[in-house]
Amino acid sequence: MDLRARIEDLRNKIRYHNHRYYILDDPEISDAEYDRLIRELESLEQDNPRLVTPDSPTQRIAVEPAKEFPKAPHFPPMLSLANAADENEVLEFDKRVKKKLLDIGILEYIVEPKLDGLAVELIYEDGSLSVGSTRGDGEVGENITQNLKTIKSIPLVLLPPENVTYPHRIAVRGEVIMEKTDFDELNAQRARQDEPLFANPRNAAAGSARQLDSRITAQRQLDAFFYGVGDCAELPCDTHYDVVTFLKNAGLKVNPNISLCSDIEDAIAVCKDIEFRRNEFPYEIDGAVIKVNCLEYQNRLGSLSKSPRWAVAYKFAPQQETTVVRNIIVQVGRTGALTPVALLKPVKVAGVEIRRATLHNQDEIDNKDIRIGDTVIVQRAGDVIPEVVKVITAERKGTEKKFSMPESCPVCGCKIVKSQKEVVSRCPNQTCPAIIKENIKHFVSRRAMNIEGLGVKMINQIVEKNIVKTVADLYYISCDEWKNLDRMAEKSARNIVDAIEKSKQAGLERLVFALGIRHVGEHTASIVVQNLKSIDGIKNASKETLLSIHEIGPEVAESITDFFNQETTINIIDRLSNAGISMDPVKVQKGEQLAGKTFVFTGTLKDFSRTEAAKRVELRGGKISSSITGKTDYVVAGENSGSKYAKAQTLGITIIDEEGFKQLIS
Ligand SMILES: [Zn+2]
Repeated sequence: MDLRARIEDLRNKIRYHNHRYYILDDPEISDAEYDRLIRELESLEQDNPRLVTPDSPTQRIAVEPAKEFPKAPHFPPMLSLANAADENEVLEFDKRVKKKLLDIGILEYIVEPKLDGLAVELIYEDGSLSVGSTRGDGEVGENITQNLKTIKSIPLVLLPPENVTYPHRIAVRGEVIMEKTDFDELNAQRARQDEPLFANPRNAAAGSARQLDSRITAQRQLDAFFYGVGDCAELPCDTHYDVVTFLKNAGLKVNPNISLCSDIEDAIAVCKDIEFRRNEFPYEIDGAVIKVNCLEYQNRLGSLSKSPRWAVAYKFAPQQETTVVRNIIVQVGRTGALTPVALLKPVKVAGVEIRRATLHNQDEIDNKDIRIGDTVIVQRAGDVIPEVVKVITAERKGTEKKFSMPESCPVCGCKIVKSQKEVVSRCPNQTCPAIIKENIKHFVSRRAMNIEGLGVKMINQIVEKNIVKTVADLYYISCDEWKNLDRMAEKSARNIVDAIEKSKQAGLERLVFALGIRHVGEHTASIVVQNLKSIDGIKNASKETLLSIHEIGPEVAESITDFFNQETTINIIDRLSNAGISMDPVKVQKGEQLAGKTFVFTGTLKDFSRTEAAKRVELRGGKISSSITGKTDYVVAGENSGSKYAKAQTLGITIIDEEGFKQLIS
């Protein structure tokens, strides 16, 4: 293909996807793939400036507002933000800003999460909402006042000012979003009604806010956060932080995670912290925005044609990609549940290569109409197992194959049971090798009995050779037996025996979790033990007793009583007890040894979740903070700790690793 043709081809593709994305709210490709098209076009045009035409998508990325809504001009225009792909680009931004401000020394910044939604403007005239509009191309958007008025968090009238006078006209800017749980619910409902699914909460928010019939908008769960004002000159504010406070006092919703940072290093640390916690937010975040705090400096810096010079968006890695479902297989889980899994053409998502995605169950496959051979959008958010968001039906060739769950267990051949109230199919055979393997994997895992050195291959071997039938059997394998296994050296056999011996003291909390009772996670296991004190207490607890424990609901209570009513469970517990496994709770002492100490966590810990680690600190009288200041006592640095580590070093704060942390709380 010659250059001219390639450029035209790219432009057509981008225009097509623009339309799918902005007008139909139904994209066919991932953002990452879209960005690649744009970048390729940009670089071709950069090398061949003669071929740039005024109608190229690089000249104006956003599309015309849909014809159905009245136009709404923006004064001043709603600019978009320049992006920074990494820390270095943020540092360059800081350098540029300082240079433009005639080599100013230190600059204060504001950092806020960049919400992934629909950018909007609200005009308040004499305190009343007059026009609400979308960003559109930045100069002109769509007037969607009626729709925005259906969003309950948007005030129709601002709160009366205290000691200040409002300007006659205020143009407030923010983002309309949909929370992740509301998005899931909406998509589930659409799937039931055979309607096309939204690819992500942003598309759902945009699609809902831009409904011609505002009654539909009103049914959707939308929310909005506000972060700026078009023209701040008439506001009683000196800094961006003042503006945010002003908005808050006026009754507008502002994000609680806005931080004032003393310098760019601090700002970067906050960005990384937001990125680390990204999946804990109830809504989607695709980056963090760094803004110069002082409004006078903002004015002096001014804007380029499309974006202000005083702000930059630190972009996180995209969590969605497009790939192909090569096959669908079935896995048997710990509880016997059969899970269909998509084997994917390998694709990198948020920095990690993924090869499989869970399809949950047959209903999910039917709802999303996922077929073998389909091109799909996959998503990976943090530790959550990757999943297929939707099928790109436009890519279907007609050769795709439908999938249905097998009638019998793919491992033991037992007939599958599907209960009425559940959508899950199960293998009912408690001696199914797949179930035994999964039980052992869970039992030995780090957060359960923490038996090191017992990997998947070894577990497969001892189950297949009939050496173990339950987790209790692990404690009855002799060192010689271990040695006789394939690929097992004397030393590693010794290590496994030692690790198993050590696990006997793991304590009742871990043991209850390790038993793998349905619906009983780490946290539930520990509250059950705290309340019932002993294994007999738990074994004999009635449903009523369990329900009287705060946080335990009927489903969990039933699952626990069912589990301990089984003869196999009692046998396992007896065998564990006879092997010398401690059935005593680990006494977590409520102490004061960390009283008044402030902790900051950075990076990933191996043996604790952040919440778990924080709980341990708080239980001992300590406090948790998200950013490092002179008042921080300890920085706990896990793997991949970011710039906080460096900052702690410069401030001379005690840095401890996970081992050090364990000693501190032991
Ligand atoms: Zn089976």
